[in-house]
Amino acid sequence: MADEKELQDNNNDRENVCYMCHRSESKAGRMLKMPGNMHVCVDCLQRTLDSFGSGGAFDMSNLGLSGFPFFGGADNMMQGMQDLPAEDEQEALTGDVINEDGTPVTEEENETKEGEETPKRGMPNISFINLADLQQGFGRRQQVKKKPKRTGPLIDPDKVLPPHKLKEKLDEYVIGQEKAKKAISVAVYNHYKRIIAGERLDSSDGVQIEKSNLLMIGPTGCGKTYIVQTLAKLLDVPLAITDATSLTEAGYIGDDIESVLSKLLAAADNDVERAEIGIVFIDEIDKIAKKNSNRGRDVSGESVQQGLLKLLEGSEVEVPVGASSKNAMVPLTTINTRNILFICGGAFPDLEDIIKERMRENTSIGFNADLKDKYDEDENILDHVESEDLRRFGLIPEFLGRLPIVVTLQNLTSEMMVSVLKEPKNAILKQYQKLLELDEVKLEFEDEALLALTKRAEKRKIGARGLRSIIEEIMLDIMYEIPKDDSIGTVVITKDYIENNGAPRIELRG
Ligand code: ADP
Repeated sequence: MADEKELQDNNNDRENVCYMCHRSESKAGRMLKMPGNMHVCVDCLQRTLDSFGSGGAFDMSNLGLSGFPFFGGADNMMQGMQDLPAEDEQEALTGDVINEDGTPVTEEENETKEGEETPKRGMPNISFINLADLQQGFGRRQQVKKKPKRTGPLIDPDKVLPPHKLKEKLDEYVIGQEKAKKAISVAVYNHYKRIIAGERLDSSDGVQIEKSNLLMIGPTGCGKTYIVQTLAKLLDVPLAITDATSLTEAGYIGDDIESVLSKLLAAADNDVERAEIGIVFIDEIDKIAKKNSNRGRDVSGESVQQGLLKLLEGSEVEVPVGASSKNAMVPLTTINTRNILFICGGAFPDLEDIIKERMRENTSIGFNADLKDKYDEDENILDHVESEDLRRFGLIPEFLGRLPIVVTLQNLTSEMMVSVLKEPKNAILKQYQKLLELDEVKLEFEDEALLALTKRAEKRKIGARGLRSIIEEIMLDIMYEIPKDDSIGTVVITKDYIENNGAPRIELRG
């Protein structure tokens, strides 16, 4: 123990000295290391920050603060050092203030007298504020300016296609999910039509069309995110995708709820007006369901739902720019969420059981009783979802009230997965075929091989999400071997190759 201390003493035979008050660590306490290997004691840092709250009657150059990279940059550092008061004057800057006659200043003497600007103790021209106030005041004063009013419309009316056209476009990318695509096309069309109309008309007739946020329910990898991404691209509006599990009530570890909007602002290149007509997709919304526990407060779920309410319904929200949480050093900007379309998505495991239970309860009496078991075999049971089921699942009524449109998506069947591989505009197979075409090699897949591939994906239970990783595994050897041999003309992927029972069929150039 003694040896260890001795070693430490040897290593620490020098003490850091505060750059501002020149007190050593043993006198001034904990130091903060600043860029340029400077140290500043907590007292001086607090006083410096306090000066920001005092209305600016604070000349930093008197205090050598220009030396801080934050205030003046490295070039000013030397100047700042020269500006430092002489050793005997430094006492006046420390907390240990002495009177002219050499006696220490008492607390009473240190009080601000009428007519006097600042107390003697501490730095000249500085009044004191609370750090907590500073968090708000400082942030506000650094607000990002809104961009000047644009001349053209925010959203191109030609891109807001009528629902049937929007669905047709979606069909080019998204396989199946017909009902969901239809419902979403209508919702999105109405939403943006309302924004466009709002730009043209004033609301003097008193009729205000309310916005309709969406809730998408469907298993993992069935295309929820993909549909939203495709829509945002078609409409040319900024999109932010976020995960509800990372959101926490302010003050807890995790992202503040406003961070959702920070992401949207970033997606809109910090153009506040464009962000205000964007789309926010909050995934894994089922993970913030209220826990069915009577013990304690549920900070993770219900309070995040509460926090999201004001965003969903439309309000002015102060948003940190370029960070996930508000703090003193992050500038804030104000975003109005009235025209932002919020789409929440989740897999909602066990929701099917809740729906079945409700339906059974409703049919267990009277002449409908024979229908009781029918629901067990119903594959599209999710279609029967009602808000009562979602409430039982753990979404609070206020939250549900702000997601008036509920769409359900189905698990992809093997055939649909084959289509996902082959048909969309940017299908994975098309991508690989194009890649090999660059080596003048043709890539073909037998239908049976594709089916075997989707069977492998189904086992992983992550829907179409697994297809890409499986195909990448399969193609790795091929992509490695083919450039070795110039004589290869065509590679045919067979079922045996997918099932690890053989090699792909190679046809040489004719
Ligand atoms: P989730 O429903 O979990 O949000 P995603 O939308 O992220 O799933 O789907 C993962 C990937 O699977 C997408 O990037 C897309 O390539 C593909 N995919 C999923 N569903 C479909 C679909 N219906 N049509 C075409 N591709 C799909």
